[in-house]
Amino acid sequence: MSMLRLAIVGLGKIARDQHLPAVAGLPSIAIAAVVSRNARLDGVPCFETLDELFASDVAVDAVALCTPPQVRRAQAALALAAGKHVMLEKPPGATVSELAPLIAAARDKGLTLFATWHSRFAPAVDPARAFLAAHRPLSVRIDWREDVRVWHPGQDWIFEAGGLGVFDPGINALSILTRILPRPVFLQGAGLAFPANRAAPIAAELDLADEAGLPIRAEFDFLQTGPQSWDMRMETEGGTLMLSAGGAKLTHDGRPLVDEAEAEYPALYRRFVDLVGRRESDVDLTPLQLVADAFLLGQRRSVEAFTW
Ligand code: NAP
Repeated sequence: MSMLRLAIVGLGKIARDQHLPAVAGLPSIAIAAVVSRNARLDGVPCFETLDELFASDVAVDAVALCTPPQVRRAQAALALAAGKHVMLEKPPGATVSELAPLIAAARDKGLTLFATWHSRFAPAVDPARAFLAAHRPLSVRIDWREDVRVWHPGQDWIFEAGGLGVFDPGINALSILTRILPRPVFLQGAGLAFPANRAAPIAAELDLADEAGLPIRAEFDFLQTGPQSWDMRMETEGGTLMLSAGGAKLTHDGRPLVDEAEAEYPALYRRFVDLVGRRESDVDLTPLQLVADAFLLGQRRSVEAFTW
């Protein structure tokens, strides 16, 4: 296949930290344009809106939507209508239902829609999945605790409706969980802490299970200072499996099985190029559905107002 010409949409933190370097390292894809209201990239045609890009003579085959989830549906719909393949940052949208028309549009036009879950491409995730296929899990404990002021400074969209709050990182844990367990999981209960001045939770506790009765406890906290944790501990019939560093490290009964530098975004882009080559889509809404269920079922409590 010829080189895929990509427009990066929303030149913010993740676009600069991960998308630009990942694309630069791959021979099959290149940045052909940037669409961002405020940011510019030297040496690349830049536009403030997708309409301006599509009205120009700059040719692109695909867009990577790195904007906040609240604006992504409209951008994806516009790009698909213009005949472009679409990569969605996680979470794939601000609601579950908004994905159905996008999936239909991609199918009808023979285009690729790729809802990415970057954490599923962490190096220890597939080894953990293989271990759990061979050794029955007995319990799962997830601790996803980070300091929002360090990792998302000033990103007000994260605490607005549809921004997911602490589920913005927490959904990464759910994307891993739903990839590695042998059976589908469902939500049984949740607690959500909302700052008095914000529309999205700053902490959450989830209790989940599968049909075999596997107990799963997940705790997400956005106010963690000191050591941060993106860890998943699984007791299994074959011993204790510890998946840590967001899926980069794996130990079995304390012995290291995987300890690799993460390279999630190059793998994401290889997958995107492959999907485009086959004109296929990949949209798994399971992690977003679990978050939506937490909003449906969760006991809400109000906590201290949050300021940056
Ligand atoms: P960000 O730094 O706020 O960047 C998003 C960019 O989108 C902004 O710089 C802004 O650029 C544009 N934008 C913001 N609001 C917009 C609006 N209302 N309409 C159109 N464009 C808007 O956010 P981010 O951290 O990169 O996160 C973006 C997405 O990537 C989120 O869904 C997040 O979950 C996901 N993600 C983030 C990380 C991370 O470590 N930060 C990791 C993995 C995934 P302009 O002002 O120039 O338009």
